[in-house]
Amino acid sequence: MKKKFLFLSSIFALLLLTACGSSSSKETKDDKLAIVATNSILADMTSNVGKDLIDIHSIVPVGTDPHEYEPLPEDIAKSTEADVLFYNGLNLETGGNGWFLKLMETSKKKEGEDYFSVSKNVTPLYLTSAGKENEQDPHAWLDIQNGISYVEVIRDTLIEKDPKNETEYTKNATEYINKLKKLDSEAKEKFADIPESKKLLVTSEGAFKYFSKAYGLTAAYIWEINTESQGTPEQMTQIIDKIHETKVPALFVETSVDKRSMERVSKETGLPIYSTIFTDSVAKKGENGDSYYSMMEWNLNNIHDGLSSK
Ligand SMILES: [Zn+2]
Repeated sequence: MKKKFLFLSSIFALLLLTACGSSSSKETKDDKLAIVATNSILADMTSNVGKDLIDIHSIVPVGTDPHEYEPLPEDIAKSTEADVLFYNGLNLETGGNGWFLKLMETSKKKEGEDYFSVSKNVTPLYLTSAGKENEQDPHAWLDIQNGISYVEVIRDTLIEKDPKNETEYTKNATEYINKLKKLDSEAKEKFADIPESKKLLVTSEGAFKYFSKAYGLTAAYIWEINTESQGTPEQMTQIIDKIHETKVPALFVETSVDKRSMERVSKETGLPIYSTIFTDSVAKKGENGDSYYSMMEWNLNNIHDGLSSK
């Protein structure tokens, strides 16, 4: 019964296509790899490698925290249909409520066959809060060298899934990686001119361990990971004491967190919040920071200028 229905419906579909005469555009669309990325940063990196050879869906909306998320029916549908899915790994979408692995189970996808961790070649850093020392810190992309490693995984996976376009994927990835390398080496030179006593990067979430290690700063934060969203009185005292031990001239606040705790630190210490910076999401289209490259450029420029101020 079911077979007969399928047979009839495919004949019907064929007739419909012939009648409309639009089969060619449909074929081109189906030719593209359907890709899902868990957040806007990974989606942007993937678009830079796949360009118009792929269709991409990004799950966690721009400006939203990817640590905890409830997938929408659309995310489940796109994940089920996807040829390839990219996730950060290192506890980003798999820590907290573990939303990503649940989604993969619902969509019947397999690790290493359908979905891939882009951070698989990165050397992880670990959380430092008591009791969390065995948990990996997810924010590896904030060191551009790690971002490049993500792009290489994305390139190799696209080539494996769609070998006929290997030349294009390789060319796109090489151009993109060269651009990122240049940004990284210029930033490293720039940061060398900041006095040691000012090299403290104060943010709300402790998302800047990889970044600080790469650019020679010390990371300080109110709470360590965004499964929390407000500083406890103890955390507030700790950060204020730490600031007083240095001559750091400015504070920073991330675009994807509740800003109230950092505003209180600013009030208590008399230090200005120099600018917002990006961690777990790119900016809205058309704004500064609306791609991985541009969010890193924004972060590097503003953090450098903020820490160089009086
Ligand atoms: Zn985060």
